[in-house]
Amino acid sequence: TYVIAEPCIDVVDRACVDECPVDCIYEGRRMLYIHPDECIDCGACEPVCPVEAIYYEDDLPEEHVPYLRDNALFFFDT
Ligand code: SF4
Repeated sequence: TYVIAEPCIDVVDRACVDECPVDCIYEGRRMLYIHPDECIDCGACEPVCPVEAIYYEDDLPEEHVPYLRDNALFFFDT
């Protein structure tokens, strides 16, 4: 899955939302989140993000690795 990380916070540009072919990018209170089960790993969202907040999960810089869990928790928190 692709993951949206810290640079999105309070930016929420939404360019990625228009690119996503399966509409799996959802808006939270301060940032956008990618649904890990709906993302088809097409990569279309990554280059259009103006703040480079989107990464493939295996390519997350170390400081953004916690966002892998954060994106999932947005959908699956119980
Ligand atoms: Fe949507 Fe593709 Fe980005 Fe996944 S990688 S969130 S399917 S645009």
